[in-house]
Amino acid sequence: MTTNRLAATAPASSDRRDIYWCDGLPAAPATPRDPLPQVDVAIIGSGYTGLNAALVTARAGRSTLVLDAGAPGWGCSTKNGGQISTSIKPTLKMLTSRYGAQKARAIRQEGIDALNWIDGFIQSEALDCDFARCGRYQAAHSPKHFDALLMF
Ligand SMILES: Cc1cc2nc3c(=O)[nH]c(=O)nc-3n(C[C@H](O)[C@H](O)[C@H](O)COP(=O)(O)OP(=O)(O)OC[C@H]3O[C@@H](n4cnc5c(N)ncnc54)[C@H](O)[C@@H]3O)c2cc1C
Repeated sequence: MTTNRLAATAPASSDRRDIYWCDGLPAAPATPRDPLPQVDVAIIGSGYTGLNAALVTARAGRSTLVLDAGAPGWGCSTKNGGQISTSIKPTLKMLTSRYGAQKARAIRQEGIDALNWIDGFIQSEALDCDFARCGRYQAAHSPKHFDALLMF
């Protein structure tokens, strides 16, 4: 991706070196002094969304520039719990009552497809992130909650 540049400012209050899991990483690149070059695609935000978009546009041959108000990856993408599930928040029952059984199942399938997509992405990009499918434990804290879980 030689056509790409990652420009970022790093305000003192958002310095990623404040975060212990960034210990040992090289310093964030400074904001370029040169005026921004003309690019095909300018992407605001260097989290998962922006960087994945940048991969797609750069690999499609578009010169791509990623900009961030903070250090690269400053947002949620470097601060989350790292849990990936197939879960879509509304229950199947709720979705069915709102959209009908067929669409409800299709919406829930999106969650399964998303997990499969990220599994494939991690493998194809050889990302060293300890990804593992390890199952999920769901506890009911009352008989009513247990009944609700059965409908999940
Ligand atoms: C504490 C926490 C725990 C989480 N746990 C999980 C989890 O376990 N599983 C899960 O799936 N999700 C989790 N999430 C959610 C997940 O991290 C986010 O959905 C995901 O990172 C969003 O990615 P993003 O690229 O859209 O946004 P971000 O990673 O937030 O990136 C947005 C970037 O845009 C920049 N930006 C914003 N506005 C501007 C602007 N005007 N100009 C320039 N730059 C700008 C920001 O500085 C930032 O770097 C969690 C989130 C948090 C906060």
